[in-house]
Amino acid sequence: GMKQRLLVVANRLPVSAVRRGEDSWSLEISAGGLVSALLGVKDVDAKWIGWAGVNVSDEVGQRALVKALAEKRCIPVFLDEEIVHQYYNGYCNNILWPLFHYLGLPQEDRLATTRNFESQFNAYKRANQMFADVVNQHYQEGDVVWCHDYHLMFLPKCLKDHNSKMKVGWFLHTPFPSSEIYRTLPSRSELLRSVLAADLVGFHTYDYARHFVSACTRILGLEGTPEGVEDQGRLTRVAAFPIGIDSDRFKRALDLPAVKKHVQELTQRFAGRKVMLGVDRLDMIKGIPQKILAFEKFLEENANWRDKVVLLQIAVPTRTDVPEYQKLTSQVHEIVGRINGRFGTLTAVPIHHLDRSLDFHALCALYAVTDVALVTSLRDGMNLVSYEFVACQGLKKGVLILSEFAGAAQSLGAGALLVNPWNITEVANSIAHALNMPSEEREKRHRHNYAHVTTHTAQDWAETFVSELNDTIVEAQLRT
Ligand code: UDP
Repeated sequence: GMKQRLLVVANRLPVSAVRRGEDSWSLEISAGGLVSALLGVKDVDAKWIGWAGVNVSDEVGQRALVKALAEKRCIPVFLDEEIVHQYYNGYCNNILWPLFHYLGLPQEDRLATTRNFESQFNAYKRANQMFADVVNQHYQEGDVVWCHDYHLMFLPKCLKDHNSKMKVGWFLHTPFPSSEIYRTLPSRSELLRSVLAADLVGFHTYDYARHFVSACTRILGLEGTPEGVEDQGRLTRVAAFPIGIDSDRFKRALDLPAVKKHVQELTQRFAGRKVMLGVDRLDMIKGIPQKILAFEKFLEENANWRDKVVLLQIAVPTRTDVPEYQKLTSQVHEIVGRINGRFGTLTAVPIHHLDRSLDFHALCALYAVTDVALVTSLRDGMNLVSYEFVACQGLKKGVLILSEFAGAAQSLGAGALLVNPWNITEVANSIAHALNMPSEEREKRHRHNYAHVTTHTAQDWAETFVSELNDTIVEAQLRT
């Protein structure tokens, strides 16, 4: 039959474009969870709309990029450098990201940020309107338009103002903070009203959804119902849709000969030691210093484990031009150096810290040889690393230590050891518990997690959201 068309709008397209000549581009697909989720959704025909991550100021280049991207079912939004600076670096990453993760503004440029707020918010609205313009050019009646994340909170309103019949959903990939935090945002009301223009608003957890509804009741004085938020008889449906991963993709990777060989090499390399693993972008929200300090405390208190355990920490560089992030990097290096100096020997160190990313197959091999994964996010929308680790542990059945402040704690809480990452004594004790855990308990906990991860996939997530959006609109038509 006729497939429904889905327009997925996100700040970044799932491809990176590199210019090769005046009118030639080479494209590289970034195969993240969202991409495979949406490729796998049955009965929809998905197209992507977003920024390609490059500034293209000439028309020849733009036209060539549009053409190249079309083959990948992608449509670019062209943003100029100044807009990107104010909208993306400024409003999105310096204001919304820290606020939504309960970090507040960086201490040293608090006042500067406050002063720049209005011009950055204006740029944010202008950028969102530019995304809307591209959606409007490509929209056909009946299409579903699915807007993603904190970059595009103004988009639902732009779209509905242009065409009130458009089916519009919005999903937030970060936490939505308590209304007590959210209400410090100068643009709080305008942003909420804009998100409420959508037909369906989705979050990873019930807590985030509840925070959003109470922000609407307290700040806008609207009525919150179990279904969502009501404004003069019009309902915006609000619900939780916990994302998942494409677990089969990980299982398939582990069956590849090259990955098996890599697993063998790693097993030999760390023979006689238990492997603990951390995989994070090097962001303040990930609690990397807290994790390493907890590991140090564990080594301090468990001398018998000192030469029998190793912590591998993959810290993927992110926003390396921002002073706050540079400071975090050197802070982490300093702690790692101190601990390796303190507990290392001539032939071995307790912590291997890598400031780089790994390719997908290397990451799978690492997940597979790990005994204990350590996720200590201070706040994290979901945390997919915890899901990916579980998906790769079919044989090893290792232990997941998981921060209660990651969205994943809501779904993997039964199998994981949940911790408060701020309490390093508690985390150190959990490391001891995990390493000494009897195999029966370990396998039982793994079974819980594995069942969840393999049955709540990214594809299910996307299908559920899109069908809920369609249902919401049918119900709204029945009501009027
Ligand atoms: N990842 C990667 N290469 C690496 C390390 C991580 O591709 O070297 C991927 C990882 O597989 C996961 C994503 O980065 O899919 C991180 O997602 P998560 O939700 O854990 O955290 P985020 O970075 O989105 O805050």
